[in-house]
Amino acid sequence: MSLTGLYVGRAVSLRILFSELRRLGYVVIGYKVVDGVLRLGELNSFEELAHDVEDIQSPGKYSLVSGDFYRHGPDSPKRFLYPPTLTLFKVSSEWVVSVPAYEERNIAFFGLKPCDLASIKVLDKILLGVDEYYTSLRKNLVLVVENCVSPGGTCFCSTMNTGPRARDSFDLAYTRLNDKLVVEAGSELGLKLLNLLEVEPIDDVTYERFEVMMRNASEKARAGFELNGLPEELELRIESKTYEEIVEKCLGCANCNMVCPTCFCFDVFDVPLIDGSAERVRVWDGCLNFTYGQVAGGHFRPDLWARYRHFVLHKLAYWIKQFGMYGCVGCGRCITWCPTGIDLRETVKKVLRGGKGG
Ligand code: SF4
Ligand code: SF4
Repeated sequence: MSLTGLYVGRAVSLRILFSELRRLGYVVIGYKVVDGVLRLGELNSFEELAHDVEDIQSPGKYSLVSGDFYRHGPDSPKRFLYPPTLTLFKVSSEWVVSVPAYEERNIAFFGLKPCDLASIKVLDKILLGVDEYYTSLRKNLVLVVENCVSPGGTCFCSTMNTGPRARDSFDLAYTRLNDKLVVEAGSELGLKLLNLLEVEPIDDVTYERFEVMMRNASEKARAGFELNGLPEELELRIESKTYEEIVEKCLGCANCNMVCPTCFCFDVFDVPLIDGSAERVRVWDGCLNFTYGQVAGGHFRPDLWARYRHFVLHKLAYWIKQFGMYGCVGCGRCITWCPTGIDLRETVKKVLRGGKGG
């Protein structure tokens, strides 16, 4: 929820904001261009923040071109708050067990998109107070969000009610309107930061422009299905043959799981080291991986179509029962980064078009 209402300032205010976060000791993480892709990483200067680029996304395709607005790349906040690999404990050659002291870092995400803000709310529900690493980083996290004036080809945040404008749970949210910046604060810290930015209450003309832009953006980020009754409708069609048809082009690579900002499954390995010690390591895993379903005595989901069906139904149906919210924030990453361009939106529409019971 906004604490302040909307303010308007100059686009250069972002530089002031960045400097202030660094001065306050935050590790500022934002999108930068690495090897032709937008990657989330630590920014040591404002210039490192990606600029003058646009990401063109469609099923199975991603490229960067010159432009003035971008959405995101394969990374999401999950990569930092719940890293791909994490050492849980070590055992020395003398059998002494030690738990690594996780580095305390105050992180500020800068220019995060509303869908990724929403993904943190989903992760909070699962990991906050449960996962020590996540909880320690989360408590001092600062969230500076950039609203999306131009959703991409795989975005459907509007359908999932997570964007393209952030509504709550941020410290500061801004929207670029050419040379102007529309800003609002969502926390006490956000309010302090806002006061540094030489802003003034929004005027009627700018407000009207802002509203029109956000309405247009919202229209662009629709999936083509409605959320109302979706979990029930999908579960009624659990026997749908659509899943089997779709996975004819699925590689079972689990890229969708890896790039999804809310997938939180993991596996645990013991890694023997050359000096006689060993480490127990947690590694991201995903329900599309064959080994994920292997248990003592068998496999609970040996068919690829059943694994893909589980991915879809978990995100859009079971998650509601488990956690009281959807597990999908509509970021579109699983669509863009699927090597064969399998499109979650199309799967859902096709399943819904089929009759009840399959
Ligand atoms: S899904 Fe919505 S919030 Fe996320 S990048 Fe696309 S338009 Fe922005
Ligand atoms: S299921 Fe796909 S669209 Fe939904 S949050 Fe995960 S990656 Fe994004």
